[in-house]
Amino acid sequence: MSLDTRTTRTGPAAVKTPRATSPHPAYQKRMRLADSLQILCVASVAIVIAIFLADGGAAKFATPADAFTSLGIIAGLVGTDLLLVMLVLAARLPPIDRAFGHDQAMAVHQSLGKPALYLILGHAALLITGYALAENVNVFAEVWNMFTSLPDMPLAFLGLALMIGVVITSLVVVRRKFRYEAWHAVHLLAYLSVLVAIPHQLSVGNLLSEGAIARYYWLALYVAVAGAIIVFRFLLPVTRSLRHRLVVDRVDAVAPGVVSITLTGHQLDKLRATSGQFFVWRFWANGLWWQAHPFSLSSAPSERGLRITVRGLGDASQQLPQLKRGTRVSFEGPYGLFTENARTSPRVVLVAAGIGVAPIRSLLETVSFAPGNATVLLRSHSLGDTYLVDELTDLCRVRGAELRIIAGKRPKGVSTWLPADAARAGITLRKIVPELLDSDIYICGPRPWTDAVVRDARAGGVPKKQIHYERFDW
Ligand SMILES: Cc1cc2nc3c(=O)[nH]c(=O)nc-3n(C[C@H](O)[C@H](O)[C@H](O)COP(=O)(O)OP(=O)(O)OC[C@H]3O[C@@H](n4cnc5c(N)ncnc54)[C@H](O)[C@@H]3O)c2cc1C
Repeated sequence: MSLDTRTTRTGPAAVKTPRATSPHPAYQKRMRLADSLQILCVASVAIVIAIFLADGGAAKFATPADAFTSLGIIAGLVGTDLLLVMLVLAARLPPIDRAFGHDQAMAVHQSLGKPALYLILGHAALLITGYALAENVNVFAEVWNMFTSLPDMPLAFLGLALMIGVVITSLVVVRRKFRYEAWHAVHLLAYLSVLVAIPHQLSVGNLLSEGAIARYYWLALYVAVAGAIIVFRFLLPVTRSLRHRLVVDRVDAVAPGVVSITLTGHQLDKLRATSGQFFVWRFWANGLWWQAHPFSLSSAPSERGLRITVRGLGDASQQLPQLKRGTRVSFEGPYGLFTENARTSPRVVLVAAGIGVAPIRSLLETVSFAPGNATVLLRSHSLGDTYLVDELTDLCRVRGAELRIIAGKRPKGVSTWLPADAARAGITLRKIVPELLDSDIYICGPRPWTDAVVRDARAGGVPKKQIHYERFDW
């Protein structure tokens, strides 16, 4: 291993910061927002059950047929409510991004997929059984009856089939076999699966019949969720792109296969982007315009320009070095909580590997710390194998941070983020940064490597709330 301490601190001597006794104000504000959103989510489930029970549902458990039917209705209502929560989590609403960050919102979105599917499958199975018992026919005859005599049932079955397809393609093992664009296209069918199931909800049974409170409640829910998706996923990105008129200003080579792209536009301060955030970019050039990709800001955004640094890993990113000056760029964002807003502690440790250095570089520019209270750890295979290291060195000198480059290959078959000899010598993050427990740790790099840094920090006693990471995958 090579532990190369590049930068000596300049400016005032290192400040010995006392351990924080009360949480950072930004953290408290964020937690209040996160708690409110979580309460809203649980309340939405409680409300749909309460409306069903209050609307005479509580009395409908007397016979086995009624009990199956009532449980089926509750499963359907809760399952649909969770589906709407999932859609809202993916709608990129600013309060959700501010409270949880994109990564965590998508992790919750993903974790709700299976429960929502099981509830909808349970809804179908329980209702078929309940109706079959009431009509004294077998379940197959009942399915046929439902399909042919109940209004809007074929559409409801189509919705169920689409939902099964979306959830299966989202399982990690299946998802990995798809190109991102193909997977994304299949995933968009989730919107259709909810849409085609709405008519049967309104036309079958009495719960949502004309004049019932439940009908208006559900219609309001659908309108609110559709509105949020239309506004935040489509209208806002389009209007922002038109308003800020971003174009490529320059493309600078950073290393073989890595470029920094500077973009200029109008009133960029109004975007209210901050260091560490990412945008989803669409470059209007031949072969690129039909796909959009997430890239993080690699320097602090300013009124004059935004900069990203891209490593060519696939078909689109490898074409970016050929971008011409003046190429139009549209975008969604800014997104993410890999920012100052996630702060809980007075010190910072920034840990990057590979192209993960991009958001770390921009964070270093603006994240708050007293001179001597920040450490930047740059992990690479070899000392020459790092990006933006000169810029990091200068920034560290100006801001009074310490830069350490940790070079060397990871050992095979051992789960560590460190080079083989360091891992063997029992070096840990806490040994490298003794002030770790008083620090917010920002980590960005490949997924398994990031997971290993997080495990090391947790093993060293760092609370979860002080660990922040951005994963460069989906
Ligand atoms: C929040 C975030 C921030 C990122 N920031 C940077 C950055 O600053 N610099 C940088 O070089 N890379 C960054 N990436 C990774 C970058 O988005 C992918 O390398 C890029 O999309 C690859 O596209 P491609 O068509 O060239 O390659 P492909 O051949 O399509 O894919 C190469 C790899 O990128 C993944 N990928 C492709 N499209 C997407 C997508 N839309 N969303 C997520 N992953 C995708 C694929 O799963 C695959 O692992 C970031 C990713 C995320 C999720």
